[in-house]
Amino acid sequence: MPNPAYEPSRCVVCGHANAEVIAEHDDLRREVEALWEYHQRRLHPETPPRHLTDRVAFSEYAPFRLVRCCDCGLVYRNPVERLHELTEIYARETPAPDVLRSLHETQVPALRAQARALRRVLGRGGSGLEVGSYVGAFLAAARTEGLQFEGLDINPSANAFTRTMGFTVHDGDLTSFDTNRTFDAVAIWNTFDQLADPRAAVNAAGKLLRPRGVFALRVPSGEFYVALRRRFASGNRVERAAARSLLAQNNLLTFPYRHGFTREALRRLLEEQGFRIKHVRGDVLVPIADEWTRRWARLEETLIKRTLALVANRDAHWAPWLDIFAARVD
Ligand SMILES: [Zn+2]
Repeated sequence: MPNPAYEPSRCVVCGHANAEVIAEHDDLRREVEALWEYHQRRLHPETPPRHLTDRVAFSEYAPFRLVRCCDCGLVYRNPVERLHELTEIYARETPAPDVLRSLHETQVPALRAQARALRRVLGRGGSGLEVGSYVGAFLAAARTEGLQFEGLDINPSANAFTRTMGFTVHDGDLTSFDTNRTFDAVAIWNTFDQLADPRAAVNAAGKLLRPRGVFALRVPSGEFYVALRRRFASGNRVERAAARSLLAQNNLLTFPYRHGFTREALRRLLEEQGFRIKHVRGDVLVPIADEWTRRWARLEETLIKRTLALVANRDAHWAPWLDIFAARVD
C-alpha cells in the first residue's frame, strides 16, 4: 500500500493548534508490530492469512503521529491523511454473506445494553435512525427493546445483506441523507470517530430529531488510550503486557481512528449544537474472538472484558469506549 498524502491539522472541537505529542511515528510503528504479534499468538496456526489481515487491517492506517489538544483533550492525527485517502479506505470490499451473518450474530448480544440504555434515556419506545448500520446488529437489538430503528450506511452490499434480515436500510451518509421525516433518536455507534467533520454530523443529527429527541453515539476514549499508551511505552514488563492486552482487546492499539474524544470535548461539541448530555456510559468493545481464535485466548478475552466492563460501567474514566446520550434542547 502506498504511503498516503498528509496535511497539517488542528483540533476540530475548539479550533486550536496548541497540542502535545502523544505518540511519534516510531511509537506507532511499535504498536503495529505489537498488535500483529498479539493476534498471531491467539489464532490457530492454520488460520487463513486473510482472517489475520482482516483483524489487524485497520493498522495499515495507523496514524503518522498522534497529538492531544491542550484545551479540550481531544486526541487527533497531526498530520492527517488527505480526505480522498480516507474515502478509499471506506470503499474497501465487503466480506462474503456468511461472514456478515456471523458478524451480525456475534454483535447483537453486546448491543442490547446500548439499546436498553437508549430506551431508558428516551423513557419509552420510539423511532430511530442508525447511521453506519453495517450488518444490522443494532437494528435487531433495538427491535427487541421496542425501538423501531432504520439503518443508513454507505456500504451497498452490507445494506443488501441487512435488508434480507427484514430491516429498512437507506444507502448513503448522514450529511446527504434527504428526508422530511424526523425521529425520536439518531444513533452513531460505529463511525463517529472516523468523521473528518464531526460538527457537521452533530448538526445533521439535530435536524433529523424531534424536539427533545436523543442523539446517541459511541466513541473510543482518547483519555483511556493516552493513559494506557503511557504504560505500554514506559511501564515495567507486567504493566506493558497488561496495557498491550487492554488496548488490543478494545481495538485501540495503533489507534485506528481519526479522533479520540474526551467527555469534555464531546460536551463542548454537543452543547454548541443545541444538545445537553443526559447520560454517559462506559463500556468495552464487542467480542472479537471467532472460530479461528484459540480456546485459551477466547477465555482470556471474556475474562479481560468482563472485569474491565465492571469497572468501566461504574466509572467512565476507566472505559475504553464511551456511549454518550444527548437530548436536543428546544
Ligand atoms: Zn480542543
